[in-house]
Amino acid sequence: MRKAIILDADACTGCRVCELICSMAKHGEYNPKKSYIRVIANIDFGVYLPVLLTNCDFCGECTEWCPVEAISLHDAGKAAIMQRKSKIGQFPIPFVRG
Ligand code: SF4
Ligand code: SF4
Repeated sequence: MRKAIILDADACTGCRVCELICSMAKHGEYNPKKSYIRVIANIDFGVYLPVLLTNCDFCGECTEWCPVEAISLHDAGKAAIMQRKSKIGQFPIPFVRG
């Protein structure tokens, strides 16, 4: 199955739990520097954008722990439909692998 992870910057609070969960899942330690997801922050505008690195294997572990469901794992077909329904220029952003 082709998988897609949808990143919703409008929902993200910048808590960075996802970075901790990924580093623990992949490297056995809480170390954001070893995470395959990074949260980019623009403090001035209060905007947070979670971004997947190329090492991400779409295991979905981080999506289980995001407190506001700003990252979610889907079948790629479903993600494409969700993107089509969203307005141009708005999130969510789907990353697809499979
Ligand atoms: S994606 Fe979720 S877990 Fe990651 S920083 Fe945003 S709100 Fe927190
Ligand atoms: S889906 Fe990607 S970013 Fe999330 S825990 Fe798995 S490898 Fe890390």
